[in-house]
Amino acid sequence: MADSVSSNGASLGFDVHTLSHLNQLTHLQSQLNRKSVSPLSDPSSVFFLHPSENPGISIISVKLDTKNYNEWSRAMLIALKSKNKLGFVDGTLPKCSVDDPNFSAWDKCNTFVVAWILQSLSNEISRSVIWNDIAVDIWNDLRHRYYQGDIFKVAELEENLFSLKQGDSSITAYFTKLKAIWEEIENFKSILLCVACESMCVCGLEKLRIQKKETYTVRFLRGLNEQYHNVRSQVMLAKPLPDVNEVFFCSHNKRDI
Ligand SMILES: [Zn+2]
Repeated sequence: MADSVSSNGASLGFDVHTLSHLNQLTHLQSQLNRKSVSPLSDPSSVFFLHPSENPGISIISVKLDTKNYNEWSRAMLIALKSKNKLGFVDGTLPKCSVDDPNFSAWDKCNTFVVAWILQSLSNEISRSVIWNDIAVDIWNDLRHRYYQGDIFKVAELEENLFSLKQGDSSITAYFTKLKAIWEEIENFKSILLCVACESMCVCGLEKLRIQKKETYTVRFLRGLNEQYHNVRSQVMLAKPLPDVNEVFFCSHNKRDI
């Protein structure tokens, strides 16, 4: 290595020490260049803000009210993720201290995120958080206050599930509606997978999963029109109850189980 430096230096007319100084200077210059680029305009930085970003416009179409927290937070998380700003609400980019070189970049991004959140709140909710200027604090406050709304959402979905009947719908349309409701319920309260059970469940969760599947099969059968009376009677006698997808398939084809 020393040989090659010495020969390169010699060929350019520099001695080894001059060359070493030049290398140091080049290194320092590149460091200075890097520091002179603001993270706000560096696309690889978490603080990058595209020149087209505007804190005065809504970034999602839904406004948070007291009943739609889940829908609102999902839309907001997707929008913030697309702008690489999730860290300002999930706690991974906490406030920089004022002597941190990134402080002004952090402060500007935080202000944008706060403005985007405020734009997406109903007037009443917006007034209740306006005193707060840290995005993650507003985010946690809203979650704390409105996430409970999901309990009511689940109750509403369960009411829909238990009152849905086939009526004028085709069996396929009826089955599709039911599936949409219970998939939404699953999003809110799915039964966990066993942690330590091996070939046989000993913790009791498998029993809960089976009960839930049976509930879906029974719901489907109970809502079917009278023309499916025979299928219903047959299935109700089966032990264990077949999976709802299988029952739908057989009912649809009016085949025996
Ligand atoms: Zn188990």
